[in-house]
Amino acid sequence: MTGSMKLDAKIPTGPIEDAWETACFEMKLVNPANKRRNTLIVVGSGLAGASASASLGELGYNVKCFCFQDSPRRAHSIAAQGGINAAKNYQNDGDSVYRLFYDTVKGGDFRAREGNVYRLAQNSVHIIDQCVAQGVPFAREYGGSLENRSFGGAQVSRTFYARGQTGQQLLLGAYQALERQVDTGQVTMIPRTEMLDLIVIDGQARGIVARNLITGKLSVHLADAVILATGGYGNVYYLSTNAKGSNATAIWRAHKRGALFANPCFTQIHPTCIPVSGDYQSKLTLMSESLRNDGRIWVPKKKGDKRKPDQIPEDERDYYLERKYPAFGNLVPRDVASRNAKAVCDEGRGVGESGLGVYLDFADAIQRLGVDTIRERYGNLFDMYQRITDEDPYKVPMRIYPAIHYTMGGLWVDYELQSTIPGLFVLGEANFSDHGANRLGASALMQGLSDGYFIIPYTVGNYLASVKPKPVKASDPAAQAALAETQAGVAKLLAIQGKRTVDSFHRELGKIVWDDCGMSRNADGLKSAIGKIRALREEFWRNVNVPGSGEDLNQSLEKAGRVADFFELGELMCIDALERNESCGGHFREEYQTPDGEAQRDDEHYSYVAAWGYTGPGQPPELTKEPLEFVYVHPSQRSYK
Ligand SMILES: Cc1cc2nc3c(=O)[nH]c(=O)nc-3n(C[C@H](O)[C@H](O)[C@H](O)COP(=O)(O)OP(=O)(O)OC[C@H]3O[C@@H](n4cnc5c(N)ncnc54)[C@H](O)[C@@H]3O)c2cc1C
Repeated sequence: MTGSMKLDAKIPTGPIEDAWETACFEMKLVNPANKRRNTLIVVGSGLAGASASASLGELGYNVKCFCFQDSPRRAHSIAAQGGINAAKNYQNDGDSVYRLFYDTVKGGDFRAREGNVYRLAQNSVHIIDQCVAQGVPFAREYGGSLENRSFGGAQVSRTFYARGQTGQQLLLGAYQALERQVDTGQVTMIPRTEMLDLIVIDGQARGIVARNLITGKLSVHLADAVILATGGYGNVYYLSTNAKGSNATAIWRAHKRGALFANPCFTQIHPTCIPVSGDYQSKLTLMSESLRNDGRIWVPKKKGDKRKPDQIPEDERDYYLERKYPAFGNLVPRDVASRNAKAVCDEGRGVGESGLGVYLDFADAIQRLGVDTIRERYGNLFDMYQRITDEDPYKVPMRIYPAIHYTMGGLWVDYELQSTIPGLFVLGEANFSDHGANRLGASALMQGLSDGYFIIPYTVGNYLASVKPKPVKASDPAAQAALAETQAGVAKLLAIQGKRTVDSFHRELGKIVWDDCGMSRNADGLKSAIGKIRALREEFWRNVNVPGSGEDLNQSLEKAGRVADFFELGELMCIDALERNESCGGHFREEYQTPDGEAQRDDEHYSYVAAWGYTGPGQPPELTKEPLEFVYVHPSQRSYK
């Protein structure tokens, strides 16, 4: 169903270099005395939410920040390993704001907005200054200057890092800024609490319904605007590199209250993860992309070659990325590296017991640089690999295989990061904004911090000063209706008392979505997946078993609510993938490929953001298209050869 709504992305006109500065100047300001009178809800305390809460608290707003973990420090952002991009050009290797902008638009396969991406590249340089000022211990050269490494899709070294713990160190920086505001009383931190619904009063986002995860108590929280920074939805696939708790509930329930969901089928499969080892595994582990700086990817040339790697001579190895993409080699973007790994495994040349793996080999790098340098660069990643696989990557090549890692889709937002519900802003991985159909490595941290430190402080002020939200009460019928509906939803899950665990449904759903809407997709598979998801969802609501009660800590109940949302979102992902009759970035439709197997876009018909509206239970979603315009970086067939 195609909608009649017109989306206004609010991209400023005029030269792209000045757009953000002009927009900031034109935005209305809230004077300091009035900021004290405004309350803002921030849901999420990862890099996007913590940086936003700290910055808004610093400005003088009253902020209530929610997260489901016991501490903001445990947000999924802490898992980020490899680094964060910035166009500082410290290496003097040809980088610039324009080049980062160019690489990101091209890397996203021309499905992102130029205006947003340019601003992201501009803000990248401020992020590094901000984090260094906070004391984030980025890696440094011997002389003290900040060091960089390379990430996929770029021919320059622009990635700042703190060993394999960049997310952790950045989050500690944002966390200490947040805690300072908690200490001043500007931010109230509400941990172990899960948002279960959005409260919309007179068409504006005015609060949330949240459940205390320890006591089970449901409560209404009101504010003048609501900011969601709740992360990505990769766990729809069950097995993923995301933290087990990452989920889509906040954005999905906001979607059901009227926020459009953009490009849900744009998901990222990361090429370097530890391969699946068995049916009962519940988590996948990423080996950072930074490893592709020094590791060489190869498989045996011969099908079914089961010899140990050290017994396969050099001339019987296929370094397929170096062979096919000489310009970028092992540092091609993630979608290209993942598809190629799948292709060699499909040919029967995969390694390891399952045959679903390729080698990432450090022997050359160790010989060239010495084991100490490699240990210094990647030591903690090597240790992690050894703990999980019991193999020593200093001696034998790592085995890696692609796994779901990031979701480019999310709630639709305009240039001000506002969703289609006035007063509802969405930051970080939870929005769809800057990465198009494929995110380049080290750019999610950049986007989350750009959104939180540098964009939302301006745009939320503009909203408050323009709209001047009126006071509302918890007794408002809309707030009470949301509370009652949430209560009924919890009671419904507990009452089913069926025979299957929540996890068994989640695992089965994940397999359907992985098989038919994962690394590659085709129309028949997608149609069949939609049918299978509907049937499984129907069984879920009949046969799931959620033990325990609602008035207590109950992790099965938490999971059941999240899996119920994944069912609906998984279906929408397949519908979106089926509607997009082209291949672009991480969305690889088998029917649309170039003769040499690369993604074949159809710019004439699909150069748009697909924004889906919720129309009611069991009803087909409604599609609204936001056309994309490319003035600076002209769409071309992406080539990394
Ligand atoms: C293993 C791994 C390594 C990565 N490495 C890199 C890297 O090196 N560089 C890079 O740029 N990117 C990397 N990424 C991607 C990056 O880590 C994420 O995209 C980013 O951290 C997301 O930040 P966020 O603030 O948007 O969300 P998150 O960090 O996921 O935080 C979400 C927050 O929302 C809260 N929340 C969620 N739902 C609710 C709810 N319903 N109610 C209350 N609270 C809720 C959570 O408690 C949490 O505080 C990596 C990702 C993975 C999986």
